[in-house]
Amino acid sequence: MGEPRRLVLKMSGEALASSASDETIDAAVVERIAGEIAVALGELPLQLAVMIGGGNIWRGTTGAGAGMDRATSDTMGMLGTVINALALQDALEHKNQPTRVCTAVHMAEVAEPYIRRRTIRHLEKGRVVIFAAGMGNPYFTTDTSAALRAAEIEAELLLKGTHGGVDGVYSADPRLDASATRYDEISFMDIVSRDLRVMDLTAVTFCKDNNLPILVFDVMAPGNLHRALAGEQIGTLVR
Ligand code: UDP
Repeated sequence: MGEPRRLVLKMSGEALASSASDETIDAAVVERIAGEIAVALGELPLQLAVMIGGGNIWRGTTGAGAGMDRATSDTMGMLGTVINALALQDALEHKNQPTRVCTAVHMAEVAEPYIRRRTIRHLEKGRVVIFAAGMGNPYFTTDTSAALRAAEIEAELLLKGTHGGVDGVYSADPRLDASATRYDEISFMDIVSRDLRVMDLTAVTFCKDNNLPILVFDVMAPGNLHRALAGEQIGTLVR
């Protein structure tokens, strides 16, 4: 068996919310995601870190739009990601998958602080690392935080799971334009120059500058996360 592949998965908070009910966190979705991760790690030589978003709880721009101080509002968003991280940790550990939550904002009673070398050690020991509180700075998103952490820990690929029913990068919004076609592969430059909204632009340009490829795929379709982790050709590869 060769060297394990080291991957970072960006899961948006909204993917954890329930569309059917009013739940902020849908336990069934979290359980399915955790199950796919646990099975993949049991089968494959993989090291996995997950950057969890918080859009199901709070978005910094929502408060700022209503007149709140942006930095305060963003801090609320970062704290929201910690709630999601604990839910995912709980679900993973119910599947007997050892997990550590590493926060970019100190809260030592709840989870350990993010320390790069420690994260790498956890991964080498087969633990799933869940990054919470983004990168700890307001004005950023968890997309950009995922890209930053992926570069720091020298991950080979950033997996960006989408949840809006769009299973990759399209020439136009497939929900609005029936003639839109999906790319199997596209360059960073094309994403930027055509303003294709797959991740925030800061994240895309960071990945470009650091040669970090992104796989955009639909994380809501059961089995897809397992396929992405297994390196199957799904979604769109951005590089
Ligand atoms: N956030 C932040 N700095 C970070 C990461 C996140 O300020 O490094 C805040 C920001 O307000 C954001 C919120 O946390 O709106 C939730 O994260 P995000 O919107 O990326 O979550 P997702 O859309 O992936 O669910």
